[in-house]
Amino acid sequence: MINLSAVLLRPGCIVMREEPMSARLGRGEALLEIECAAVCGTDISIWRGDYPVPLPLVPGHEFVARVADTPARSPAARLIGRRVVCGINNSCVAYARRAMCEACRRGLPRHCLRRTVTGIVNHPGAFARYLRAPQGNLHPLPNSIPSDAGTLIEPLAAAMRTFELTPLRGGEIVVVLGCGRLGRLVALAAGRLGARVIAVGRSQAHLDLVAPFAWKRVRLPLQPPDGKESRAAEQENTKSCGHKRDGGGIVSVRDHEQLRAFVLDHTRGFGAGIVVEATGVGQNLLLAQRLAHPMGTIAMKSTSGVPVSDFNTTLAAVDELRFQGSRCGSLEKAIRFMSRHRMPDSGWITARYPLEQTAQAIEAAVTEPKVLVEVRRVLA
Ligand SMILES: [Zn+2]
Ligand SMILES: [Zn+2]
Repeated sequence: MINLSAVLLRPGCIVMREEPMSARLGRGEALLEIECAAVCGTDISIWRGDYPVPLPLVPGHEFVARVADTPARSPAARLIGRRVVCGINNSCVAYARRAMCEACRRGLPRHCLRRTVTGIVNHPGAFARYLRAPQGNLHPLPNSIPSDAGTLIEPLAAAMRTFELTPLRGGEIVVVLGCGRLGRLVALAAGRLGARVIAVGRSQAHLDLVAPFAWKRVRLPLQPPDGKESRAAEQENTKSCGHKRDGGGIVSVRDHEQLRAFVLDHTRGFGAGIVVEATGVGQNLLLAQRLAHPMGTIAMKSTSGVPVSDFNTTLAAVDELRFQGSRCGSLEKAIRFMSRHRMPDSGWITARYPLEQTAQAIEAAVTEPKVLVEVRRVLA
């Protein structure tokens, strides 16, 4: 069997490799044939070298696949031929190991001490024709969810995890900093769970996409705090010049001070109970602290790998803020959520590339709201 995969050799350098792949599966494994895989901010951070992981690596972890094979008489054999989404933490539980590590024993398989992470740490990802995955991570995708939307299940689960850790009662104000790929799903989850979402972004295109779930939308000018965002912002600026600025209920603010005044205005001067940092710019944690009310929660969703300087520990202590990291969530819950709630249409995917052009796809994702690698599309 020949597999074709996009291999990141070193930051910025992806090559296509065609290599034989053994069809023999280990106990607890399944062979998946990838249909499509979306590019995520984590892929961009890994590709840039900001998020250091062992290389070479086949990236890609938000995908829909068909189960091509499993060992005979294994429990997942019933899934052969079906479309699935796949959890990315390859743990003792996912492989149904007889001897489990301490984390898995405690019911925390996402923190498995022996885990690999598909497309991120020591396990090849989905920018490939085939992939092996532990059977325990497979979740059948209902027919009502098309494959394009299915690639949103993994990041939606990660977005929903925020509110598993800090449950919403309904009606509270949640500020979402950054309306990009993940921020948009966080806004969607919070909005559908009954919160009033103040979505903050710099990009008109991103603010447009978040409109259905936001109570208020606030736009900061395109003057990024560091060079990393500036490339994206500059190109975004050019792209969005056809839009009517500040139209459609978007409030423009000049700077972080004005943004803070806006949030205080809408919270009787107290601040927001939950501020989600999803900009990919670590430094925005400092802004998040200033928007949250005392004893509020700062939900950290960025995995940009960029360190934060000048962190205000005094403010964090005095205001008794809670800093909540969170990563992956339950795919099962995300599938149920997507089946129950009206989801955005396919307009969320703004660019599509064949597998052979994975490098271009990742590069495009720096500015495009969401890029899909269509693995089963054949180059004309
Ligand atoms: Zn992701
Ligand atoms: Zn484990």
